[in-house]
Amino acid sequence: MRFEFRALPARVLFGAGRRRETPELARQLGCTRPLIISTPEQKDLADAIASLFSEARAHVFSEAAMHTPWNVTSRALAVAQGTGADSLIAVGGGSAIGLAKALALRTGLPQIALPTTYAGSEVTPIIGETQDGEKRTRRTLDVLPEAVIYDVDLTLTLPARLSAMSGLNAMAHAVEALYAVDANPVTSIMAEQGIAALAAALPEILANPASRDARSRAQYGAWLCGTCLGSVGMALHHKVCHVLGGTFDLPHADTHAIMLAHVVAYQAGAAPHAMRRIARALGADDAWTGLHALGTRLHVPRSLAEIGMPHEGIGRAAELVLRETYANPRTPDHDSIRAMLERAWRGAAPQPDAL
Ligand code: NAD
Repeated sequence: MRFEFRALPARVLFGAGRRRETPELARQLGCTRPLIISTPEQKDLADAIASLFSEARAHVFSEAAMHTPWNVTSRALAVAQGTGADSLIAVGGGSAIGLAKALALRTGLPQIALPTTYAGSEVTPIIGETQDGEKRTRRTLDVLPEAVIYDVDLTLTLPARLSAMSGLNAMAHAVEALYAVDANPVTSIMAEQGIAALAAALPEILANPASRDARSRAQYGAWLCGTCLGSVGMALHHKVCHVLGGTFDLPHADTHAIMLAHVVAYQAGAAPHAMRRIARALGADDAWTGLHALGTRLHVPRSLAEIGMPHEGIGRAAELVLRETYANPRTPDHDSIRAMLERAWRGAAPQPDAL
């Protein structure tokens, strides 16, 4: 055996009601005057966290948007400076957390994240920002939140459909961690557990969105999967979703949910050990049929066409996927990527190509 494992420095508080510990956690970081960040839809939640702080010392900025656009970041920076914020508290999904990271990068302020989706950004040193229509991603510990509070109560309002797609988005991190070029035994254990926790919890959430038990297990799985994303390199699936989302403005979680079984089928022959572990976590005969069946059970969208991708974009997407080199178990080529995208566009069943 030969591997490298790097642990990420972060403090994680997990449990129902623990959002109420936010001011104490901030105090332990030496902070009493946070800027609380959310998307417009989660402003009430941000106000509720602000009200936990005494003497109106917390301010709220509720304009976070998907893909961290620079114009929003620059407005938020002015508010952070104008209010004398000494810390950043993100309440929401990847959009709110992304904005807090963008501010932390430029101000050095410590962050606390209270995630309300399963996207996983709160435990990664990764930031994606959009400027002049181009999304650029980089890794730096400067954007990793110092502390994360997973309070299941904050996820109860996440609609069942969004929960399913966000959960599959999380699962994609763990799937790719299992065949990552820098995979290691610790991350792989987290990946398998994360997939298993989400695969069991998501159908229960669909059947009973108010189930705190299922929501809590999904959140646990999302933490494990997010940690995988933060720890090892991702491969073809994340590249494809990045290209599709960035080029055709497709919704992030939907794109992940549609593509995952297709990409896993594409990789199947080149990563047999990872495929066995994914199948085992899903309780399925093999990885891609298990993921496809889970998507069907969760009623996620099946085709790129239905989420707005133009058919004539397939060739361009294949080119962009191949433009940069990155580690992947199977060496991608234009024809096979195009064929996979064509199947995903039509909503056809995934197909493991001959290598
Ligand atoms: P999001 O934060 O935009 O949330 C999706 C939608 O769900 C929004 O409309 C939001 O208002 C709503 N929502 C969130 N929580 C809710 C709740 N509890 N109840 C009701 N509605 C709720 O999307 P996301 O999928 O969480 O994150 C996607 C973004 O995060 C993308 O920009 C993606 O690139 C980024 N991301 C970054 C990383 C990273 O490591 N840097 C990881 C994953 C995702």
